[in-house]
Amino acid sequence: MFIFKSIKTRKKDVFFNEAIVMKLIDNNCDKNDELMIKIKDTISKGNGVFAAKAFKIGDIALVGSIAEEATNNSVHASQIGINRFILHDEVYINTNHSCDSNCGIQVNDTGCHNLVAIKDIAEGEEITFDYAMENYTIDHFPSQCMCGSPKCRGRITGWKDLPKVTKEEFRPHAAPYLFELDAINEAKKNQEIQLTTGN
Ligand SMILES: [Zn+2]
Repeated sequence: MFIFKSIKTRKKDVFFNEAIVMKLIDNNCDKNDELMIKIKDTISKGNGVFAAKAFKIGDIALVGSIAEEATNNSVHASQIGINRFILHDEVYINTNHSCDSNCGIQVNDTGCHNLVAIKDIAEGEEITFDYAMENYTIDHFPSQCMCGSPKCRGRITGWKDLPKVTKEEFRPHAAPYLFELDAINEAKKNQEIQLTTGN
């Protein structure tokens, strides 16, 4: 089969484990066809998405598209606005979190997210982003983060749980509504303090 052959030609550069089943991404992500292959198993983290070519800092590594609207935050939901959640396409939702990711968030024309390289990414490297760059709260992941980075926070947290210093570090790569939500919550907190103290 043509598709299978095309995967095999990339395989030596991209993957190693004979048992790993690879397939090209679904046709709802045409723009990603030449950039990515999805891997069925990363051994420790379930599916992952891997670069089929090298990317330089600033390159779009993955073009996100909206699969459907979501009524609330859930394990596969991406936040794309203060009160809006969606399910991204299949490739995007298979992209794993890392506490020291090689991609950040960029809002695209459709209002959902592209993943943009914030480090140079080698061919064959796993594409990752920090889920806290996208979702304000994350309550639905297992307690232990599996990213394996020396900078691992221990568990996958949302933006609201990041230390201030990390928020500053992530500022150029995080979704814009996260800062609006911080401002809204800060204002609420100040109002509560004023009500409590009567000032
Ligand atoms: Zn981690």
